[in-house]
Amino acid sequence: MSVVIKEEKNEHQCTVSNMLYFKGIGLHSGKETAVIIKPAEAGSGIVFIRKDVSPPVVIKVGYENICSTNLRTSIGKNGACVSTVEHLMSALWGADIDNAVIEVYGEEIPALDGSAKIYYEAFNESGRQELKQNRKYIEILEPIVIKDPENSEASHIAIYPSNDFEILYTMDFDHPFIGSGRFEKKIDGFNFYKEISCARTFGFLKEVQFMREKGLALGGSLDNALVLSENGILNKDGLRYKDEFIRHKVLDLIGDLYLSGFRIKGRVLANRTGHDMNVKLIQKIALSLAKSKECGRAAEEGKNINAKVKVDLPAPEKTVQYA
Ligand SMILES: [Zn+2]
Repeated sequence: MSVVIKEEKNEHQCTVSNMLYFKGIGLHSGKETAVIIKPAEAGSGIVFIRKDVSPPVVIKVGYENICSTNLRTSIGKNGACVSTVEHLMSALWGADIDNAVIEVYGEEIPALDGSAKIYYEAFNESGRQELKQNRKYIEILEPIVIKDPENSEASHIAIYPSNDFEILYTMDFDHPFIGSGRFEKKIDGFNFYKEISCARTFGFLKEVQFMREKGLALGGSLDNALVLSENGILNKDGLRYKDEFIRHKVLDLIGDLYLSGFRIKGRVLANRTGHDMNVKLIQKIALSLAKSKECGRAAEEGKNINAKVKVDLPAPEKTVQYA
């Protein structure tokens, strides 16, 4: 058994206190979009609802509803998708929100300033409502390691047991303004705002044309992204953190991991990962959780729990392969 879900005795689940409304351009679609975030009851988790389609489509946050990891993370069900959810998910994590209904009026989440700052500040200002039920965590009992089969040296991610949520992220970009970097920290609701939430997404000027031909980054601008030229950045106000790029990768990682549907206690080691590898990790965590449940059931029924447990996970809408 490498993963379990445990109840935290001293922590209660939270939801938003008030209804919140955000409107803006989608980073990739370039289209105007809006979300209304509403309080939700304990145990319901984060639930997106595409309200602009008829009938509305309910998409509960969970690994099984992740449908794309191509330069952003999208979730979907019955053919309806919500794209670029990672920055909002990261803000919800940082603001300690366990349960919320997010009505979406468009195919993408508003990019706002390209970070989690505006969402986080709004959650914080409007306040949290504490619910009666205790919070649940995914606890990592044994290491889980994912390696990119095509490039095992460069891109990999692993999670190890820890009493906290810790991230060690390393990257090495072949660009003079980014270069190599390392970010290591125990992250919680207290330091998330200052250390992570303001880091903006980034892109390379030379790739903009190519991405736009593929229907991506159509809403990207200097208002919602750091744009890198050959040897510098185009944003006149400069960086918000000296190492804003790597902090944004950490922001994405937190948002992607929260798509597991739970907060996680573990130490994450990630090297050059993007959304695809982050999602592979939560898929593997989900597989381990399913095995743990099977073992628990087998033990209750008096079966031999040492026998190999076979678990079939429901397939995601569009399959992202296990490593
Ligand atoms: Zn991002």
